[in-house]
Amino acid sequence: MKKSVLVTGASRGIGRASAAAFARAGYRVCIHYHSSGAEAEALEAELLAEGCDVFRLQAELTSAEEVKNLFAAAGKVDILLNNAGISQEIPFLEMSEEDWDRMLAVNLKSVFLCSRAAAAQMVRRGEGKILNISSMWGLVGASCEVHYSAAKAGVIGFTKALAKELGPSGVQVNCIAPGVIDTDMNRWLSPEDLAVLREQTPLGRIGTPEDVARAALYLAEDRFITGEVLNISGGFVI
Ligand code: NAP
Repeated sequence: MKKSVLVTGASRGIGRASAAAFARAGYRVCIHYHSSGAEAEALEAELLAEGCDVFRLQAELTSAEEVKNLFAAAGKVDILLNNAGISQEIPFLEMSEEDWDRMLAVNLKSVFLCSRAAAAQMVRRGEGKILNISSMWGLVGASCEVHYSAAKAGVIGFTKALAKELGPSGVQVNCIAPGVIDTDMNRWLSPEDLAVLREQTPLGRIGTPEDVARAALYLAEDRFITGEVLNISGGFVI
């Protein structure tokens, strides 16, 4: 029977590319979106036209109620890709309590809420995979992104702990730590910034959403990797 994947934040960027990669590989895909309804609808239409099995659902992932409704509507989830996230560049001494709370809520609490909902059904079935998108900044920290780095480091700790706890129930939990990827999240970077980043990357280029999607598909199909953090940064962080 076809495996089902729920990709959070699939309206744009890495989530969009991942949803498309899973759908084209024959998975049934739930395209989750938050505010980019038109983008999600366009992706759904594109993939349906190719004969893929996809549908879309909206939810604010910082709300326990909305996550509960999302999973009730999604049905069976064999693979959860916790991808939705936000970033913000702000000096630490200018960071407000609201900035901190929002960052932790969208980037870490959502991972808890969605994983809890998915794990309940995965443990019952004795199988399932949870894939979390962290960041290389969760590994090494980024100046002026303390809350983002803390949230993404939290995702790594979350992944390792949950992998230990759910392994005996047949559920694998892994993490991907992307480097600089060409998405809306990095639109604020100038061409000069991008040139410097490219230069500092051993593989000599900025990553694409498809680079990350390929890694997600690989981890979704693996049977003996759990608690791992896969660094997809072209060697920027080693
Ligand atoms: P993006 O293009 O800005 O897309 C972010 C996605 O997250 C959108 O689909 C958005 O949905 C969703 N989202 C944001 N806030 C949400 C909320 N409150 N509830 C539900 N969904 C929400 O970003 P991206 O670059 O693809 O990033 C995807 C993930 O990769 C993030 O976790 C990010 O931290 C991580 N990452 C990115 C990079 C990079 O260089 N781009 C590097 C390392 C890690 P709507 O548009 O529908 O609101």
